[in-house]
Amino acid sequence: MPDPTSSPSDNKPLPPGMVLGPDGKPCKICTAFRNWTPADKPKRAQNGKQPAPGIAATMAAMAAGSSAVARQPDPDTRPEYCPPDVEQLGRATWTFLHTTAAYYPEKPTSNQRVNMLTLLRSLPVLYPCSHCASHLDTNIKENPPDVSGRVALSRWLCERHNDVNSRLGKLRFDCSIEKTDERWKNGPSDGSCD
Ligand SMILES: Cc1cc2nc3c(=O)[nH]c(=O)nc-3n(C[C@H](O)[C@H](O)[C@H](O)COP(=O)(O)OP(=O)(O)OC[C@H]3O[C@@H](n4cnc5c(N)ncnc54)[C@H](O)[C@@H]3O)c2cc1C
Repeated sequence: MPDPTSSPSDNKPLPPGMVLGPDGKPCKICTAFRNWTPADKPKRAQNGKQPAPGIAATMAAMAAGSSAVARQPDPDTRPEYCPPDVEQLGRATWTFLHTTAAYYPEKPTSNQRVNMLTLLRSLPVLYPCSHCASHLDTNIKENPPDVSGRVALSRWLCERHNDVNSRLGKLRFDCSIEKTDERWKNGPSDGSCD
């Protein structure tokens, strides 16, 4: 697999944040929407409306109190009807995985353990962002899943997520069961999610 952050085979410099797929071409599902700028990309469609102003213009107009400009769509925000980018896919996948771990039994049957293992081991094979899948494959081989119960599984998953967070320069999450349950099962004690 080529280095996903190096230049494509035609040696043209890769725009910042664009990621290559296993075929050596820019990979849409591996790239954040705001960084997806292929050379032959048509101007971002605005459903027949005028193109939205840049962020700087929008911020300036908002500061000046212009509601007309403030209502324009943010060109860096993906419209609802679009397929996911690497970030939206990641958030949805983490939501599914952490929530599933939070509701996994304290004492799973052998059938539940086998199925959880199959789910987790399938991810590096099937996850559509190829470089994410490749990192996850290495990570899971070095840190085999602990499917012995929900506390152990929640921690294991939290640590794998933290490995990605660290690689992306994001803050690490407190992997105690109190914190993962608060985020993915119970909500905060102030009742704001009840
Ligand atoms: C398996 C996998 C591999 C990925 N690999 C890459 C990659 O190589 N490159 C890339 O650009 N993106 C990757 N992503 C996407 C990336 O992890 C993020 O999902 C994406 O950048 C959006 O980040 P976010 O800041 O919105 O929050 P996310 O990281 O998606 O987190 C969602 C929410 O989970 C909570 N949270 C954060 N950390 C933890 C934790 N450790 N445990 C429990 N809860 C937590 C927070 O409340 C956060 O708001 C990957 C996603 C997955 C599922």
